[in-house]
Amino acid sequence: MGRYLLIGIGVAVLLAVAPIVFRFCSGFIAGVRAEWRNIRMGKMTNRTLTDGSPVTPDHREIDPATGMQKAYVVLSAEERAKGFVKPVRRTYVHAKCGVATTMGQALAETYARNPYFYSGTFCVGCRKHFTFGDPDGLFHWDDGEVVGSA
Ligand SMILES: [Zn+2]
Repeated sequence: MGRYLLIGIGVAVLLAVAPIVFRFCSGFIAGVRAEWRNIRMGKMTNRTLTDGSPVTPDHREIDPATGMQKAYVVLSAEERAKGFVKPVRRTYVHAKCGVATTMGQALAETYARNPYFYSGTFCVGCRKHFTFGDPDGLFHWDDGEVVGSA
């Protein structure tokens, strides 16, 4: 009988403690989630459009006259000022058509700060965007290095 009483008390204690443990755990998980959100928001605020203005939802819209996007996302001036891991290079050649494209300083500095920031790029000869790694997506900087690789 004593054993059953102990088990009964054990279960009662568990039932009493369970909501507290649950609340603690869910509080912990919510905290981690909030932290993640902050990290993601922080990353987002590291990005602007080439003119330094906030990123707009419609910036990817293509201008039919040029084939270029309405605007391009870059790392913020503050983020770029932290230093470059690669030289600032403004001109690259499309392997497919041989035409050289020269981009703005903010874009070039974004590549220099983070060579993997972009998944593809634009060619003025083809008037199109290409994804790095695709058969037509091979571009070389004027020093010979492949764009988007390092
Ligand atoms: Zn091209």
